[in-house]
Amino acid sequence: MKYLILLLVVLAAVWFWRKGRDAGAPRAKPAKKAPPPLPQDMVQCPVCHVHLPRADALPGPDGQLYCCVEHRSRKD
Ligand SMILES: [Zn+2]
Repeated sequence: MKYLILLLVVLAAVWFWRKGRDAGAPRAKPAKKAPPPLPQDMVQCPVCHVHLPRADALPGPDGQLYCCVEHRSRKD
């Protein structure tokens, strides 16, 4: 009988602990979510034809935008 009471106490403690943990944890649906990234202007490298954001592109001497220094320095 003594062990039964002890078992009930342990179960109650675990139940209270789990209840408190669930209350403290954030809900599955967070209230504030990061806004989706804004659409970026994409450009195409004239050498390898890869698309990349305009902010990452390298302007060449001919006014075109390249993906990397190697392609910018390439003549054709
Ligand atoms: Zn390229």
